[in-house]
Amino acid sequence: MANFNTHVTGAAAFSGLLSTMFLKADLVALPDAFLLAFSGVVGGILPDIDLKYSHPSKIVFTTLAVIISLAWVFSSNAPLSVVELWIFGLLLFLFIRYPVWAAFDKFTVHRGSLHSIAAACMFGMGTVVLAFQCFNQAADVAWLTGVFVFIGCIFHLTLDEIYSVDFMDQRIKRSFGSAMKLVDMDRIVPSSVVILITFLAWIFTPPSGGLLQQLTEPEYHEKLFDNFLPNGIPDYLQSVISIGQNSRVKE
Ligand SMILES: [Zn+2]
Repeated sequence: MANFNTHVTGAAAFSGLLSTMFLKADLVALPDAFLLAFSGVVGGILPDIDLKYSHPSKIVFTTLAVIISLAWVFSSNAPLSVVELWIFGLLLFLFIRYPVWAAFDKFTVHRGSLHSIAAACMFGMGTVVLAFQCFNQAADVAWLTGVFVFIGCIFHLTLDEIYSVDFMDQRIKRSFGSAMKLVDMDRIVPSSVVILITFLAWIFTPPSGGLLQQLTEPEYHEKLFDNFLPNGIPDYLQSVISIGQNSRVKE
């Protein structure tokens, strides 16, 4: 398992690279690319949301509650005044930070059902529904946001497989079980709930056909390949090389 810093840094680097590729292929606009990178980082910490260390668990929930309530305030289409938006945003924050946190703390087991590929699907699918139904995102952006949360979760599970320390830097025995499991077979009831929520969320997702069609368009692939590597020696390197050559001539 990896610690908190490794999860956040690794997920930010990986989702930042992917979202830049989407931006350079002209598949998303700049604000959406930022949203996708951010979603990847959230996905990178979600599998450890059931942490049984009280202090970091509260930090994770406070962070998630801030992100979700701010996202709701900025994406709300309702004709509400500043004060109403602020009050509803604050209520949403308090709801996630206290009752939802308490429920997680009471009913979940660390590295249980939420630390699995099935839960990554649930988090991803849930994000698509939230982004589309509650945060008024377009269908394509909502799907991409969910995909980035899913990728962030899978990246988290992969890092946990590689490292042998946990979220708080405590050493973990190899016999503690695989971090990368499809479903948690030791806890059948919670695992069934995870799968059920994934299917229920799927019913409320918008159509994904538009995005799938865009992703297969050769035009976007060409743009990505054209922009992936520098075309010749870039100007800034050219200037550094010529400064180096000039200084050698003077010597
Ligand atoms: Zn983990």
